[in-house]
Amino acid sequence: MAREPEAVIDGVAVDTRHWIGGERVDSAETFADLSPVDGRVLAEIARGTAREAAAAVAAAKAAFPAWAATPTAERARLLHAIADGVEKRLEELAQVETLDNGALLRSHRRGVMPRVAHNFRFFADWLLGLGHEDFETRGHRNHVSWDPAGPSVLITPWNAPLMLATWKIAPALAAGDTVVLKPAEWSPLTASLLADIAAEAGLPAGVFNVVQGYGAEIGDALTSNPDVRRISFTGSVPTAKRIAASAAANLTPLSLELGGKSPLLVFADADLDLAVQLAVEQYDNAGQVCLAATRLLVEESVAEEFTRRFVERAAALNQGDPRDEATDIGPNIHAKQLDKIDGFVRRAVDTGARAVIGGHRKDGLYYAPTLLTDVAQDSEIVQEEVFGPVLTLQTFTSEDEAVTLANDTRFGLAATLVTGDPDRAERVSAQLVAGTVWVNCFFVRDLKAPFGGSRESGVGREGGDWSFDFYCDVKNTVTAPKGWHSHG
Ligand code: NAD
Repeated sequence: MAREPEAVIDGVAVDTRHWIGGERVDSAETFADLSPVDGRVLAEIARGTAREAAAAVAAAKAAFPAWAATPTAERARLLHAIADGVEKRLEELAQVETLDNGALLRSHRRGVMPRVAHNFRFFADWLLGLGHEDFETRGHRNHVSWDPAGPSVLITPWNAPLMLATWKIAPALAAGDTVVLKPAEWSPLTASLLADIAAEAGLPAGVFNVVQGYGAEIGDALTSNPDVRRISFTGSVPTAKRIAASAAANLTPLSLELGGKSPLLVFADADLDLAVQLAVEQYDNAGQVCLAATRLLVEESVAEEFTRRFVERAAALNQGDPRDEATDIGPNIHAKQLDKIDGFVRRAVDTGARAVIGGHRKDGLYYAPTLLTDVAQDSEIVQEEVFGPVLTLQTFTSEDEAVTLANDTRFGLAATLVTGDPDRAERVSAQLVAGTVWVNCFFVRDLKAPFGGSRESGVGREGGDWSFDFYCDVKNTVTAPKGWHSHG
């Protein structure tokens, strides 16, 4: 019996099927998409397989020549039209995303969804300004061009679904690539709405495709397909290793944005209120932020005062329904994620850590904001990414020790330091291993800037020119001067 392909989520109709070659395509099986807000089944989503993966890549391949040949001004116009569509449906996108992944509605309304539209506008405009000046070599002209590469597979996680997806979709489309997006199975809905928006904006069929499904069930067929010219993945390290192995068969270029265990260094000369504020911000999105500075490293002489003020601020946070404007921390995404978080905390406490605050589950999918002290540098809780509202606090007595602790990790996504001494800021930043260092601030992200991780936090950089370098085949054309003859 045919199923009802549309789910109506608090008044918003979301198609639960794939979007391939400009058409909705169903699968034989479905999976249940649960809301972390109230546990209800939001939708039964098409459960993609190798078949749908192949169909989506074939559609992207068929659409590629025409899209690549589309003048850049027209590509940019279509991206702006998608941004218009996102803005028009901003409230719906915000509501659906909150129900799907549990992040705050107020953030989706005021920060995330405007940023989604901005992703399209920024890369549309960047495309039009792309280019280097030609240069000469013994009278020969060097001309560098950014040529479209082909079908790109984009695979994204659930913690900021549409924002992370569009941060890849927009530059890939701007670059002239066609796209197959595979959103996370715990937050599949806004990707489907984006397919509608892109179609309404007039994007030609097959230029943007969405396939739904569970991890490797559909993922392996996407990443091993020889027609795929780029793979950009945001997610966990183990999945990245599997994708890299799969892509290796075809030497498909990869961009990997992975996990982190970033430090926040607080020096005694810091504005302590600022340091505390930045530290408490690490509970945003219930700690499910790749960039979160989950290791607080505080100079010993101010550690007691820092902790006192931190506890005061953290205790004032409102935890509850993410649709409520007054809520600061919503639920975690899934019961499995909550079990994982609690497992980390239990094992840490069993091996000597002390919970200054939190350290336990609450009703539903909520985990109490937690700060653990008395943790050893080589312990699991200091070395592994928890991806929940769990921070550790360690102290240091010298700048060297602070840098050593900060860098003693297999990750290198970001680092934040709080200091009143500009010389120290410069010295310490230079020594930190991280894709992004924030000095006396956090999460300031310009789309022009390179973004990515060092060590196991990632491979490559995206943002501004770096995105185009990745999504394009960069070509140098060398033209001899008129009348020139080789004397080889
Ligand atoms: P995950 O690796 O479990 O899944 C990410 C995506 O990969 C999902 O869409 C999933 O279905 C897909 N996938 C799983 N197996 C696959 C396979 N074999 N082939 C292809 N696709 C496959 O990660 P997650 O739990 O969804 O996300 C959390 C992780 O993402 C954390 O480690 C977090 O730090 C990281 N993250 C990094 C950034 C960044 O920009 N560096 C941003 C957000 C999240």
